[in-house]
Amino acid sequence: MSEPDFTEDTIAIVGVGLIGGSLGLAFKRVGIGKHIVGISRAETIGRARDQGAIDEGFAYEDLASGVRDADTIFLCTPISRILDLLPGCLDAAKPGCIITDVGSTKRAVVEAAGKHNRPDVAFIGGHPMAGSEWKGVDAADPFLFQNAIYVLTPSGDTARSQVDRMAAMVSRIGAHVLEMAPDTHDRVAAAVSHLPQMMATALVGLVGDLNEKDGLPLKMAAGGFRDMTRIASSPYDMWRDICRTNAVPIRDAIEGYLTALASLKDRIEEEALEEDFVYANEVRERIPKDSKGFLNPLHELLLVVEDKPGVIADVGTSLSEAHINIKDIEVLKVREGEGGSLRLGFGTLSDRERAGQILSTQGYKVLTR
Ligand code: NAP
Repeated sequence: MSEPDFTEDTIAIVGVGLIGGSLGLAFKRVGIGKHIVGISRAETIGRARDQGAIDEGFAYEDLASGVRDADTIFLCTPISRILDLLPGCLDAAKPGCIITDVGSTKRAVVEAAGKHNRPDVAFIGGHPMAGSEWKGVDAADPFLFQNAIYVLTPSGDTARSQVDRMAAMVSRIGAHVLEMAPDTHDRVAAAVSHLPQMMATALVGLVGDLNEKDGLPLKMAAGGFRDMTRIASSPYDMWRDICRTNAVPIRDAIEGYLTALASLKDRIEEEALEEDFVYANEVRERIPKDSKGFLNPLHELLLVVEDKPGVIADVGTSLSEAHINIKDIEVLKVREGEGGSLRLGFGTLSDRERAGQILSTQGYKVLTR
């Protein structure tokens, strides 16, 4: 099958924030979308144009004018606003248009689109599994979708050609497409994305309470605690909509987790607890490591380094000379004594092994996990 030619496309992006702006930049980077229209507040439009994420802008009041020539419309606002703006897009879209969204839950949006009678327009729910803790168009990144899972939730009556066209478009910006039913998406997302958020929020809250009541020093909450609770820093705005549009699966996931925790509690002094650890180790190893996803597993190394200027450059130069790509890097802020740690993520086990050998030879202390 030859790849569809997108160079003539007009693309409309409704809500030019982190995800919308990143889509605009990514489409521009690969040459899809001759004309990209943004629909947002005037201030956002100005910044998005300056960055090159869009060519032309419209206010929300002029939504119909903004989307009417679009071949593809991306709804990129918070989910509650996607639900508000969707009918206007469906009314104004030209025949043959694909409308999609990027909301983190799928059932509510897909159901709302299904109630609207525009058989000549294809609505295909979408969820790019990439993001950051930053918000707004200023944080937009043309490479955000590279190696990211991009879930599409087409309904049964969407023409295969439209689904293929949508899939080809997001593949061109580096994403890996995964098709599934909206309910399946929401159930999986509840377990692997929404439940971890609730766990992190509860765990940090618990430790905060202990700090206030018993004076537990927060300084001790380092290492694993920090790793596990990073997402407790997420702003509530986005989660309000996720929780409201996916309440039942999230409650079910919490119930399942409470049962699992209760079983661990019962076995806490028993040798049989080892089985739980072995099983968890095995399952974690099976999580695909070649792409970003709900979680972002990579082959990781920890490097114990002196806290001094030039260390990152030295490590980066050595690995680049060996053509080893560092997929992820983090300076761990937990320091013991004079040492510091770098966490490096690699796309393949062999890259991690080669990097470990090179850096050990150079005298760095290398730990794997
Ligand atoms: P964002 O950076 O805050 O962008 C959202 C944009 O929507 C804003 O720039 C804003 O532009 C517009 N907007 C319209 N009505 C709004 C309202 N009532 N409140 C806030 N913004 C409003 O957020 P984002 O991270 O791009 O998220 C957008 C969508 O992507 C959400 O549905 C989210 O579920 C989904 N998503 C997010 C991530 C992630 O990690 N961030 C990942 C995958 C999917 P104006 O101010 O110009 O109106």
